Amino acid sequence: MAGLVPAIHAFFVAKAWMPGIKPGMTDPARPSKWSISMPWFRNHYFCESCGATWAAEWSDIVYDDCPFCGAKHTMPYKSDDRTVIVAREGDSFVVLRSPETAAHDPDYEELGSFPSREAAAAFLAGRAP
Ligand SMILES: [Zn+2]
Repeated sequence: MAGLVPAIHAFFVAKAWMPGIKPGMTDPARPSKWSISMPWFRNHYFCESCGATWAAEWSDIVYDDCPFCGAKHTMPYKSDDRTVIVAREGDSFVVLRSPETAAHDPDYEELGSFPSREAAAAFLAGRAP
């Protein structure tokens, strides 16, 4: 029908994904605190078939199937690296990391708590590989 615009839906879902890197395959030359992190990504998708948008978190940047029309192999147009994040908790800023044991969700563990976002960023800058 002319003029019919597909509804744009947006929702969020976390999905399980088997990691490509197994324990023991990490590079021993890297600092252990960082080499045991589980990569975690929030992937953003746009379906060219029905116009839907959605986001899904995976431990990799992967194709997904459209949850609205079933179109296969949609490539994310954007991916946020959420392996290490800074989250606000009350008056402090907490640095969270997805540990190696993460599987079905990032299962964040706290690395430190700071009075400002700048202090948390400085902490990350000093520890990044
Ligand atoms: Zn679709």
